[in-house]
Amino acid sequence: MTHDAVKISTHTPEVTSKVNLLGMSRVQLEQFFEKLGEKKFRAGQVMKWVHQYFVTDFAQMTNISGKLREKLEKVCEVKAPEVVHRHYSQDGTRKWVFRVGDGEGSLVETVLIPADDKTGARKTLCISSQVGCALDCSFCSTGKQGFQRDLTPDEIIGQLWVANQSYMEDVEIAERTRSVTNVVMMGMGEPLLNFKPVVDSMSLMLDDFAYGMSKRRVTLSTSGIVPMIDKLAEELDVALAISLHAPNNELRNELVPINKKYPLEQLIPAAQRYINKDGNESARKHVTIEYVMLEGVNDKPEHAQQMITLLKNLPSKINLIPFNPFPHAPYGRSSRNRIMAFQKTLSDAGFVCTIRQTRGDDIDAACGQLVGQVADRTRRAEQWKKKIAQQGEIVRSQG
Ligand code: SF4
Repeated sequence: MTHDAVKISTHTPEVTSKVNLLGMSRVQLEQFFEKLGEKKFRAGQVMKWVHQYFVTDFAQMTNISGKLREKLEKVCEVKAPEVVHRHYSQDGTRKWVFRVGDGEGSLVETVLIPADDKTGARKTLCISSQVGCALDCSFCSTGKQGFQRDLTPDEIIGQLWVANQSYMEDVEIAERTRSVTNVVMMGMGEPLLNFKPVVDSMSLMLDDFAYGMSKRRVTLSTSGIVPMIDKLAEELDVALAISLHAPNNELRNELVPINKKYPLEQLIPAAQRYINKDGNESARKHVTIEYVMLEGVNDKPEHAQQMITLLKNLPSKINLIPFNPFPHAPYGRSSRNRIMAFQKTLSDAGFVCTIRQTRGDDIDAACGQLVGQVADRTRRAEQWKKKIAQQGEIVRSQG
């Protein structure tokens, strides 16, 4: 496995008024073509070129007439967010830092984690939905940055596009396939507070003309915006994860302050309603419960017992996340023994309970921090800014 770190030129992106097709849903694209005086089916054709063959140059879209291709080149474009840094780890983990917005813009991260499953082919991409976050969870430095802005649909789906395309750079167009098998909306930001762009992007993930992903493999992770969980149930059938992190209101108010607005007695029924919304074909057979393990804070035997009581009527799978401390973090990581004892208590009570493995150790701070929503993102963002400022040219370095 190669160890490949590439720093990419930081030229200021060209200012353009062309319409970006990358984040458009099928309906939006059909409307776009109708406005151009074209047939609706062109939308599906272009979507396949863009999302399945990773072609951005209209000249290469050979089943479209030359005249239409010329027209498209004049009025629109297919443009992913600018990659300012990428790092491919020896264990297969990949990370990208994107610049979004005009001028200097802001930086967001995306991480791809491979995992050995039965088929040996699972690749999970953790996608960001906002720059910064307004919710200020006490163990998460994204919250410390405050909220900067929502990502647009092309910036959200662009993360998936870039990750897939990264495996296909040297592959002939006709041979290209999609490599990412699972998506979790679990990066920077609270996805349910950027509702429409997130739902539009997830619709593209599910669309057969785009990524055609199984609804069970597309997960939205929320810290618990109760009314928006109900709204999501109305609009999209995807898997749901709840960032729980505490089994009682007193502790959760401290760790996840949005709990003061939507306490556990509202959150757990909302998760139940989400599961009960559809029939057997739904992606909603259970909710994934995320629980970051903080030494001496939420990892005691009584907390495990409270979890059993809290979740007894909610079909759920529990994922314990060893905390990765960051500088000035007010918490430490629970010991291995403590995490395993916590897992055993829950397993003995009949819950499926896993411990998240740390991957990508040779990438800055394992970046599983991002996946666990506990990243020292402020520090890393500053580091990236410094590195990028120092690197004007493409530099390949060998690890
Ligand atoms: S853990 Fe998630 S919801 Fe909480 S501050 Fe961090 S990014 Fe926001």
